[in-house]
Amino acid sequence: MSETITRLADYDTETRYRTTVVSSECITSEQSDEEVREIELDVDLPDFSYQVGQSIGVLAPGAAEFGQEYHFRLYSVADLPERSESGNPRIKICVRRCSYVDPYSGERYDGVASNYLCDLKPGDELSITGPYGLPFEVPEERDADLILIGSGTGIAPFRAFVKHIYRNVPDWKGRVWLFYGAKSGLEMLYMNDRKNDFPRFYDEETFEAFQALSPRPSWDDPIDWGETIAQRGDELWRMLGDPKTHVYVAGIEKMRSELDKVFAGLAGSEEKWERRRAELMAGRRWVELLY
Ligand SMILES: Cc1cc2nc3c(=O)[nH]c(=O)nc-3n(C[C@H](O)[C@H](O)[C@H](O)COP(=O)(O)OP(=O)(O)OC[C@H]3O[C@@H](n4cnc5c(N)ncnc54)[C@H](O)[C@@H]3O)c2cc1C
Repeated sequence: MSETITRLADYDTETRYRTTVVSSECITSEQSDEEVREIELDVDLPDFSYQVGQSIGVLAPGAAEFGQEYHFRLYSVADLPERSESGNPRIKICVRRCSYVDPYSGERYDGVASNYLCDLKPGDELSITGPYGLPFEVPEERDADLILIGSGTGIAPFRAFVKHIYRNVPDWKGRVWLFYGAKSGLEMLYMNDRKNDFPRFYDEETFEAFQALSPRPSWDDPIDWGETIAQRGDELWRMLGDPKTHVYVAGIEKMRSELDKVFAGLAGSEEKWERRRAELMAGRRWVELLY
């Protein structure tokens, strides 16, 4: 999230842009019971501009019975900025169809914004706001190491970011280590039988990707970061000790406690890790986009 804004209610939603859905494609494997869609939107304003790492706001129609005009949610830009044939800005976002369980009734309800987006068809129009925030930046030192840790749709900003580095930063020399966690291989976005464009970076000398899965996906067990990260623990710890290394984390909120446990193991104790993480965060070398 942006450095200063942490509550959805504080985002500027007054300036709105009309967009048209160009395409909506399911990007989870056919065998997966999860639905994540990549949605392409054309903005009806040639001057609208956005950058890799930013997010846009979506105003889904709200529940009229609760007097809610709209339901506002944020989505990360999932690709490099591009333009349509007619010259209008085109944005790709990647949206997981969400639901939630009411803590009082125990009933499951559909998430408003994600279901609204996933149900849109090519030609449909919607309002967006933003763009907001720029949490992940390419370090000025081109030989800095980057550790990217993403889970689920948290891969979206990193896909755009990695493309940006290898296409647009010709003097990039640092290592880029991507740790990507998902429930199972079927939910690995941009790395499954339906859409698989991440491996093209495997040819880059400085890029490496490591996958972490849940040991029992059907039981909703947490992603096993321990195994994947601990295997590279010594080198990771050395990288973290280098003042040039940056760590970027994106995905759902519960990642924070899962990662804290693993990094406390690398540090030797929870206290040592808390101290180290606080130092990294203070120097903007550990940056999180969690939701
Ligand atoms: C800066 C930022 C960037 C974001 N980028 C993306 C993105 O690129 N793609 C995306 O799908 N979502 C993204 N989100 C989350 C998104 O804004 C919504 O919260 C989400 O789509 C659910 O909204 P909803 O109205 O459908 O349901 P809600 O009623 O708001 O939430 C339903 C439930 O889904 C959980 N949840 C929310 N998002 C996810 C997710 N992605 N994966 C698993 N569980 C989730 C919530 O914790 C909640 O329990 C981002 C959030 C922020 C703050």
